[in-house]
Amino acid sequence: MKNLVSLTYIDSYDNSKIKSAVEQAFSNINLDSIIKPNMKVLLKVCLPGSMQPDSAETSHPAIVQGVVDVLSDLGVNCIIADSPYNKYTVSHLDSVYFDTGMLEVANSSNCELNHNLKIVNINTPNGVKAKSITLLDIINDVDVIINLGKIKIDEKLGYLGASANMFGLVPGEMKSLILNRMNTIGDFNEYLIDIIDALKDKLIFNILDGVVAIEAGETQRMLSCLAMSENIFSLDASIINILGLNYNNTIIKQASDREFIDIDNPFEIVGDELDTFRLDDFALYDYDLNTQIHKNIRQQKNYFRLNQQRPTIKPNRCKGCSVCSRICPTNAIMMRYDKNGELYADIDYSKCIFCNKCFLGCPYMVVKLKTPLGFKKLHKTINKYNEEEK
Ligand code: SF4
Ligand code: SF4
Repeated sequence: MKNLVSLTYIDSYDNSKIKSAVEQAFSNINLDSIIKPNMKVLLKVCLPGSMQPDSAETSHPAIVQGVVDVLSDLGVNCIIADSPYNKYTVSHLDSVYFDTGMLEVANSSNCELNHNLKIVNINTPNGVKAKSITLLDIINDVDVIINLGKIKIDEKLGYLGASANMFGLVPGEMKSLILNRMNTIGDFNEYLIDIIDALKDKLIFNILDGVVAIEAGETQRMLSCLAMSENIFSLDASIINILGLNYNNTIIKQASDREFIDIDNPFEIVGDELDTFRLDDFALYDYDLNTQIHKNIRQQKNYFRLNQQRPTIKPNRCKGCSVCSRICPTNAIMMRYDKNGELYADIDYSKCIFCNKCFLGCPYMVVKLKTPLGFKKLHKTINKYNEEEK
């Protein structure tokens, strides 16, 4: 894999600027000469859940639109896909496509939204954390994968960029199962490298939308950067360098140990220089490869169980005390009046992070946990995975 990384300064999600920036970046890494008319391209966006585009948690529709427009000019057929956390069902996908602006992109472009729920198991004999990986089957229907991720600093997992975006190819609830098995950030990184190793025969290009990034503390921060590379680890290394993180505390060290990248010469920049994007006060966590993902054993044991379930409140059983609304960390619970003038709690699932504090905190035990329907669809695969790992 070439270690060329294209960096472009963009200070807004203005559609007119983005298309020309994407064209320039494609040309910088020669992607425009590799993509041929009538090829099928999977645009693997970042859609962890039903969030609004301005949350900066999901791929921004303006960037997706810019990439789709350039691909369209090259004469390819494009399909947008990702698997959100928790559920991988058609109805949930449709709600995520709508909320994140992907439906609008598809409606105004010559591209499809993925509704293929099939999954595929790929053997990974060289895997460090898994000897078999389950991914979305759509990867087998395309000629090229364009991995379009976001730049985030995550409370549990530290730096998330291009390689972490590939975790989205793991279907729905299986993500929680896998995270539950990983003790440290280093373990999770090895699993990401296993995924990338499993896809080594595919033609993959990588883009990071860092126009607005997420820094530590879940705060949005302008990084004004559109980055692109054929080499997923070179791309991450360039951003890790910009953010001021030490390679030895990140996936770059592990990718280098497994000979996917040379840590002493991780990338060559084309386009704007690295220093254009440096921010001295970009907030980071002091994490390394040995940092524990789960805070304690009890939480670790409960992690997968809790992630299968969502809180529900029946309005006619709620006492209207508003305890749940006060303890909800994301303000997902609104107190409303029913037709009899009685207060009840109403959960906005687009804000809910399934922490289950409302379930634990309701003094009247009115909040119940319900297993999402989509979980049962993956049940057999998850059991098989458990058997293989024993
Ligand atoms: S599970 Fe957590 S985030 Fe969701 S509504 Fe309950 S307290 Fe709020
Ligand atoms: S804590 Fe329980 S009873 Fe009180 S408002 Fe919330 S759901 Fe209703």
